[in-house]
Amino acid sequence: MNETPMPRARAVVDLAALRANVRALRAHAPRAALMAVVKSDGYGHGAVPCARAARQAGAAWIGTATPQEALALRAAGDVGRLMCWLWTPGDPWRAAVEADIDVSVSGMWALREVVAAARAARLVARVQLKADTGLGRSGCMPADWPELTAAAREAETGGAIKVTGVWSHFACADEPGHPSIAPQLALFGEMSEQAALAGLEPEVRHLANSAALLTLPEAHFDLVRTGIAVYGVSPSPELGDPADFGLRPVMTLAASLASVKRVPDGHGVSYGHHYVTPAETTLALIPVGYADGIPRHASGTGPVLVAGKWRTVVGRIAMDQFVVDLGDDKAEAGDEALLFGPGDRGEPTAEDWARAANTIAYEIVTRIGTRVPRVHTGVRASENGEPGENAASAESAAHAANAANAENKSTGSAT
Ligand SMILES: *Cc1c(COP(=O)(O)O)cnc(C)c1O
Repeated sequence: MNETPMPRARAVVDLAALRANVRALRAHAPRAALMAVVKSDGYGHGAVPCARAARQAGAAWIGTATPQEALALRAAGDVGRLMCWLWTPGDPWRAAVEADIDVSVSGMWALREVVAAARAARLVARVQLKADTGLGRSGCMPADWPELTAAAREAETGGAIKVTGVWSHFACADEPGHPSIAPQLALFGEMSEQAALAGLEPEVRHLANSAALLTLPEAHFDLVRTGIAVYGVSPSPELGDPADFGLRPVMTLAASLASVKRVPDGHGVSYGHHYVTPAETTLALIPVGYADGIPRHASGTGPVLVAGKWRTVVGRIAMDQFVVDLGDDKAEAGDEALLFGPGDRGEPTAEDWARAANTIAYEIVTRIGTRVPRVHTGVRASENGEPGENAASAESAAHAANAANAENKSTGSAT
């Protein structure tokens, strides 16, 4: 960072916090293995460094949505169990099988494609069968489950696949006591039993996302798939703050003030003049906008720490910039503005932005744009006196070291 100038805006990603979150989450689900979900570039935090840090802290599994995301991790040196679940006909099944990725199958078309890919590659594909227990997205409906499990068993005895998992996903785990939770759990139990009766012996059954990991121990089964909590963000404010679960927000979004100036009263600010200064005042320009993922919906409401106080966005958030009114407080161009972070310097959190924009904190962190460089700190666990790696082979440690070197060279560049 010494020789490179401070970027206009930066998302500082604290990998030591991420590792501590993974350890805290493992303690919440001590009998289950943990899958750290790093889809959508690690919820905006950088998939490769986050996956590596999660593995260092004992995540036995990494999960992504698309096969392309999973293959990119392998290309970056990730080793260990890796699963992806969002498949479309024609997707790279064979590449996934060759890269030893667990693939999810929700229906007969997908089973046919993976069996063909496994035969072509002369390998045994690891297949996880997904049940729709009530979410209504992907997943096999109960009525179609006997056909899918029987066909999967046949492909297994034929040597093309191994069914490694049976899994499903909650609709409303973030609303404790929601009436859909118990029926989903019960149906998952039934569909798991049917899979066993079909002759399948999956290594892992899994149902829990972050919310269920934190609030529903009976849903932990063999593996918990946790995304948002790894990044230190609570799945929903109703469940509690991150600190209530021993979690710490991983991303801090900071910007340097691009201009600070006195303006007279009656001065219109930003497109549409939705704010007009009520008196002579000082305006500060924050050089990030909706193209950087700052929600335009937070125009007039988003919070920012500038010159020691929370300010509110005045006027419209534009593509590249927005304005805050400092009154008579002092600041200079180049001073730091904190949009969100863990909160211990008095800054807002991603949750505060979610409230201001009438959305969820997932969307706030995930949408930070590619124009904002991710700066990863705490890359090496050894520097922090943290507990040693869990279950890491010498080989994966070497991989991690190589990849960490590569990452250090690219730190500060856009991801
Ligand atoms: C995104 C996702 C998760 C992780 O959800 P969080 O609420 O972020 O923990 C788990 N499972 C599936 C299928 C997902 O798509």
